[in-house]
Amino acid sequence: MTRSTPDSCPGVLRLHQAADGPLARIRVPGGRLEPEQVQALADAAVELGNGHLELTSRGNIQLRQVRDAAALADLLDAAGLLPSRTHERVRNIVASPLSGRVGGWADVHGLAVGLDAGLRADPRLADLPGRVLFTLDDGRGDVSTLRGDIGVQAVGADEFALLLAGADTGVRVTASEAIDVMLDAARGFLDLRGTGDDGQWRLHEIPGGAERVTETLDRSPAGDRLELGATHTLPIGWLDQDNGLVSLGAGVPLGTLPARTAEFVAAVERPVYVTPWRSLVITDLDEGPAETVVRVLAPMGLIFDAQSPWLQVSACAGRPGCAKSLTDVRADLTAAVDSDRVLPGEPGTAEMLVPAEDVTVAGRQHWSGCERRCGRPTGPVTDVVATPDGYRVDPS
Ligand code: SF4
Repeated sequence: MTRSTPDSCPGVLRLHQAADGPLARIRVPGGRLEPEQVQALADAAVELGNGHLELTSRGNIQLRQVRDAAALADLLDAAGLLPSRTHERVRNIVASPLSGRVGGWADVHGLAVGLDAGLRADPRLADLPGRVLFTLDDGRGDVSTLRGDIGVQAVGADEFALLLAGADTGVRVTASEAIDVMLDAARGFLDLRGTGDDGQWRLHEIPGGAERVTETLDRSPAGDRLELGATHTLPIGWLDQDNGLVSLGAGVPLGTLPARTAEFVAAVERPVYVTPWRSLVITDLDEGPAETVVRVLAPMGLIFDAQSPWLQVSACAGRPGCAKSLTDVRADLTAAVDSDRVLPGEPGTAEMLVPAEDVTVAGRQHWSGCERRCGRPTGPVTDVVATPDGYRVDPS
């Protein structure tokens, strides 16, 4: 498959002209933000955007209705959030958020830093499509469910499975080899994808792509292959770290974080991880301060209860952010949550067409303003898609 339209992934230096104004996407490799960076993003949202931070399904941050692109770039540059002007859109790296603190075989956050530096050091890798996703899974099988293009998953303390196009290649590498092998795989993908914006955006779009890239690496695959899971447990609520400290997993309803709430998160003065499940993990807290953080941030709307219906739902931008949308899906979904029409349990099996005020769905669900279903998570999800005649509930 080749493309007839250019890769239009937004960044900080190339904004997307959304229906409600210019949109900027800020890459956060490995999801890690220092408190000062959270504060800088809150400042940017208030001074230059619509007052909210949007968390994306790749653990990045979006700002909407950006009024001054140059001022935004300067602000982010000063905060260390724009370390490259040539490679900014290719720094899509997600890592297991709890790695090194709670469980897992290995701490992959160092790999995220090294991979980001390696990407930025090779001028050719600036040509990667902005859609390419790198995943660094510490062995718990969380970010591997995203089915990235290039990644590793720990299978031992110093052994990683190389994943390409969302599957295990059989190649095994050590931590010290992992970054170079992933960068070589990225170069192999560039060789295969064709030139310019007419080439494929994702490795899985190339027939036999994973096998062909593996051949270029000159490494013998092992016999056994990992079966990657489709689901995992969200890091929500009180999470005891292996070192006696506490992490707090906080869901962000529909991934929209008000700048005022972000300021309170920054004031905790601890490293924060943005997850690809539109939540935050605030790390390295003592127990007393952790209790205070929950008492302050829960009333502001952050979700610390793993049973909350907000953790079952996601939605595309919808109106007014997207001109293609048939309706304001986020308002309709919010009404469904507020009126207890998002239910626990297993999804239904029958497809149906119902008015917005009657949509009642159990289990994991994604609401979309049109058939494109932007932001749809991987794994088992019921689609709730706007049509001219109401929402189509499709437990596909
Ligand atoms: S799914 Fe459709 S309405 Fe929603 S953001 Fe994508 S294009 Fe727009």
